[in-house]
Amino acid sequence: MLALLNKGLDQLNSTISIQRHTNLENHFDRVFGAKYDSILTCPICNNRSVTPEYQLSLQLAPKVTPDDLINLKASFASNFAEEYVEASCDKCGYKTEPSEKSKRFAKRTEIRKLPKFLIINLSRYKIGRFAPKKIMNPVKLEEKLVLKEGDKDVIYLLRGVISHTGSQVRSGHYIAFINQPDRTWAKCDDTRVTESNLDHIRLQQQTFQIYVLGTDSSVHPGFPSETLSPT
Ligand SMILES: [Zn+2]
Repeated sequence: MLALLNKGLDQLNSTISIQRHTNLENHFDRVFGAKYDSILTCPICNNRSVTPEYQLSLQLAPKVTPDDLINLKASFASNFAEEYVEASCDKCGYKTEPSEKSKRFAKRTEIRKLPKFLIINLSRYKIGRFAPKKIMNPVKLEEKLVLKEGDKDVIYLLRGVISHTGSQVRSGHYIAFINQPDRTWAKCDDTRVTESNLDHIRLQQQTFQIYVLGTDSSVHPGFPSETLSPT
């Protein structure tokens, strides 16, 4: 199923790259498209080199907290934290050499535009001796996530979760939980669709792989958000 999703995203990306030449923004861009700036700063001349990045889903490395839970907020913070890398400067020509004294470039990613719906794909695997191993730690269920787009707070509410069951990376089973327009939850397991709730979903914390979050006004598209906001 994930392969299908990735294939769909690949096809979308190729369609989008074709459309870029005609300067059209398609529906997927408007709904799922996020823009980031990858910024590399030279340690010698402080030149900032900015590379724009575009993503339809955000791949996050899970950050495991001391209580053994994968914490989405901590995973976000670590994804957007500054790191030091080897690089070369277009302006002054300085290049990091493989010696201890050689200075590295500061690299960080800034959010430029957040999408209406944010798809987070948790990379729940690590390199194993023979094959990739699945990271089995449970994910702390977040019903609300506040992210920064410049100075603006963007409030996201949980809209769906896709769970991957099984301890293997290359096998297992996918189940989706979807928040419906009447705010109830549905569990979709192959052709079986049943009622669910957040308590049921919490029991699946060990299996969360894909998180779908919607901005406050996008929670129920087509309905005025005020009439459906919690009171
Ligand atoms: Zn430089």
